[in-house]
Amino acid sequence: MMGVAMLGALAAIGGSASLSFRQARLAAIESMQEKTGIWAQAISRLVDGARAKLQLLDQATQGEINQQTANLLRRLVVESTIFREAWMVKDGRMVCSDVGVLAEPVPMASDLCQLGSVAEVRLLPRPSQGDQSDAILINYNTGKGYFFGLSIPTQTIGELMRYGDSNAAHATFFMRQDGVVLDRSLNSVPNVTPPTKVPPAGLSETQDALIYSRVVPGYNYAVVAIFPKKALWSLWAQSVPFYGGLALVLALCFFLAAWVANAQTLSLESELREAARLKQVIAHYQPILNLQTGKCVGLEVLMRWQHPTRGLVPPLAFIPEAERTGIITELTECMMVGALEELEPVFRDHPHLHAAINIPVQTLTNPSFPAHVDRLIRGRFRYKNISFELTESTSLTDAALGQLRVMKDLGIRLAVDDFGTGYSNLRYLSLFPFDFLKVDKAFVDGITNETKSSGLVDQIVSIGRACGMELIAEGIEHPSQVEYLKNLGVEFGQGYYFAPPAPIHELIEWLARNAEGDKCLL
Ligand code: C2E
Ligand code: CA
Ligand code: CA
Repeated sequence: MMGVAMLGALAAIGGSASLSFRQARLAAIESMQEKTGIWAQAISRLVDGARAKLQLLDQATQGEINQQTANLLRRLVVESTIFREAWMVKDGRMVCSDVGVLAEPVPMASDLCQLGSVAEVRLLPRPSQGDQSDAILINYNTGKGYFFGLSIPTQTIGELMRYGDSNAAHATFFMRQDGVVLDRSLNSVPNVTPPTKVPPAGLSETQDALIYSRVVPGYNYAVVAIFPKKALWSLWAQSVPFYGGLALVLALCFFLAAWVANAQTLSLESELREAARLKQVIAHYQPILNLQTGKCVGLEVLMRWQHPTRGLVPPLAFIPEAERTGIITELTECMMVGALEELEPVFRDHPHLHAAINIPVQTLTNPSFPAHVDRLIRGRFRYKNISFELTESTSLTDAALGQLRVMKDLGIRLAVDDFGTGYSNLRYLSLFPFDFLKVDKAFVDGITNETKSSGLVDQIVSIGRACGMELIAEGIEHPSQVEYLKNLGVEFGQGYYFAPPAPIHELIEWLARNAEGDKCLL
C-alpha cells in the first residue's frame, strides 16, 4: 500500500514537472504570439500613417522642386517624433530634402527610385549597413516619375515598442518577405541569428528553437519571434517553486490517503478477527424451491456480521477482506456452528430440506476442514442434507480437489456457484463431478432485460445438463423468469420473488405458511 503511495507521489512529482515544462512551452508560445501581434499591428499603423502624410505632401507640392517643397519636407520631420529625414528623388537622384533644395543632386540607391505601383510604400534597410541598419527607409512612389522618402530610426521603433517588454526570452525580427531583415532591435537576445528567409506564418519549430511568424496586416512584411529552446529551461525553472510545491502537496495527499486506507484495512482486519472470536457472524436463510412443484426443498445459508455498532453488515462489505486475509475460514466455521445449531430442530420437523453453505476454495485447502465439518454434522444431520456452494476467488488447486473428494465421499453434495462470472468457468467443471450448477443472478436478469446476458441462460443450462448437473437459478424476481426457467427444465430456484434471506425465526414462519412438498432436493 505504501509502495503504491510512493509510486503515486513519484508520479505526482514527475507529472507536475512535465506539466510545468509543458506550461513553460505554452507560456513561451503565448508570449511570442502576443508580442508579434502587438508589433505587427503597430508597424502596420506606422506605415499607414507615413503613406498618408506623403500623399498629402505630394498633393501640396505637385512635384515642384523648390524651397516650399523643402519646407514641407522639414515640417514633416519636425512635427513627427518618428521620422528623422525626408527627401524627394527624381531621375535616380535626391533633388530636395528636409534640409533644402540640393544644389548638386545626390545619386540614390536603385531601391529608392524603383518603379512600384502608384502610392506604393516600400520599406528598405539603410543600404550601407544591411541588416545592421540603424534606420528603416520608407519609399513612396507618386506614380509621376518622382518618389518621396522618409527614414525611421530603428531605435525609435524600439522605443515605440518598449512597452512590448524587453525581458522576453525570445528575439524578434522585422523582415521583408524576401528575407531582408529590416530591423532586429524590436527585441534582441544574444546568440540568436535572424532566419535567412521568412518562416511560414504561425508556429514552427527547429531543433534549437520555437519560431512564431506573423504577417504585418496589409503589407508584405513579417514579424518573426525566435525562442531558443535553452531558454525554455530557465522559464521552466521559474515555475518550479509553484509546481514543486504542488507536487509536494499532491505527494503528501497520496501518503495520507494510503495511510488512512492502510489504517482502515488494518482495523477491518482486526475487527474481523474480533468478530470471529466473539462469534458475531450469524446466518440468514433463503428458501430454495422446486420450480416444477413450487415446494420448498432447501435453503441457502448466507453470512451476516452482527456488528456491535454498525448493525447487520452485508457479506459483500467484509467477505472480500476476510478472504484476502484468510479470516474467512474462522468466520465460516463460526457461522456453521451457529447455523447448524439453529437448523437442527428445523430439519427434525422438515427432514427432506437441505442446507447449502457457501465455502470459499481457500477454506477447502485447510486440511482440518473435512474433519471439522464431519464433527459438526455427524449424528445431527444426514450428509446428503448438506451441500457446499463453492465460491471462487482463486483457482481450484490439487489440495482443494482432494478435500472435495473427501467430502463427496462422505455424501455431502457440491455446487458450483457464480458459474460464468469469475474463476468458475468450463475448465472448472471438468476438474470435478459437481452435483449442482448455480445459475447466477446476472444471467437470470437477462431473461427479462434486453442485456448482453439475455439468452446466455439457455447456454448455461445446456452446459449443466451436459455435465450431468442439476440446476439452481438464483436471483429470481419475476414470475416470467419462473416460467422461462421452468420451460427450460431448470429444477430449482431462489430469489426475492419467493422469499428474501431472513433470520431463522422468519424462515420457520415462512415454512409454516408454505406447505412444503415431499420431493427432496437430494
Ligand atoms: P451468492 O452466494 O451468489 O448469494 C446470493 C446472493 O444473492 C445473496 O446475497 C442473496 O441475498 C442475493 N439474492 C438472492 N435472491 C435475490 C434476488 O431475487 N434479488 C437480489 N437482488 N438479490 C438476491 P448476499 O446474502 O448479500 O450475499 C452476497 C454474496 O456474499 C454471496 O453471493 C456470496 O458470494 C457471499 N456470501 C454470502 N454468505 C457467505 C458465506 O457464508 N460464506 C462465503 N464465503 N461467502 C458468502
Ligand atoms: Ca451462494
Ligand atoms: Ca451466486
